[in-house]
Amino acid sequence: MLNIVIFGAPGSGKGTQSERIVTKYGINHISTGDVLRAEIKNGTELGKTAKGYIDQGQLIPDSLMIDILASVLDSFEDSKGVIFDGFPRTIAQAEALKKMLAERNQEVSVMLDLEVPKDELMTRLIKRGQESGRADDNEETIKKRLNVYHSQTAPLIDWYKQEGKYSHINGLGELERITEDICQAIDKVR
Ligand code: ATP
Ligand code: MG
Repeated sequence: MLNIVIFGAPGSGKGTQSERIVTKYGINHISTGDVLRAEIKNGTELGKTAKGYIDQGQLIPDSLMIDILASVLDSFEDSKGVIFDGFPRTIAQAEALKKMLAERNQEVSVMLDLEVPKDELMTRLIKRGQESGRADDNEETIKKRLNVYHSQTAPLIDWYKQEGKYSHINGLGELERITEDICQAIDKVR
């Protein structure tokens, strides 16, 4: 089983690269952002709760997020592996993921850290906001999300280094080159 954590700041390209990896390796994709946006669209209770946090650029509470992840994970059958996109975003989530996988006799294979300079992240997200109309892709909320990333999510870099799972990927440049670098990192742990 291939369990890949794709990691990076908002706008680093996690979703784009995940789609390519899913096609190439035939694994399942969990995008917590996509799950939450679907709940919001469907007007569920969970969606209403999530919207409050997302519109403020804040993270959804860990306990809620961990439950959501567990239920998505349980919905996969005969899975060859999973790419985790947007999860974990906190140390508590990383510990929960480790435990969930251990209970299934599995572990994270590799954590891919897509690194992109801050100016480029701002440019990409503002452009995405104009094109997709995603409510949290406006300048004010983007700044908040980047702060949340630095304070709550970036500490996972050292956490995964300690686990011996860390792999750095240069997320700036040609999409295809980035995909190749990612595949190389994955093929090392397969
Ligand atoms: P990217 O552009 O690289 O795909 P992103 O940060 O723009 O990343 P999503 O991953 O789609 O976007 O997340 C959107 C929002 O959903 C986050 O800002 C946060 O409020 C919420 N969210 C998503 N995943 C989590 C999580 N694991 N824990 C808490 N909140 C989350
Ligand atoms: Mg995304």
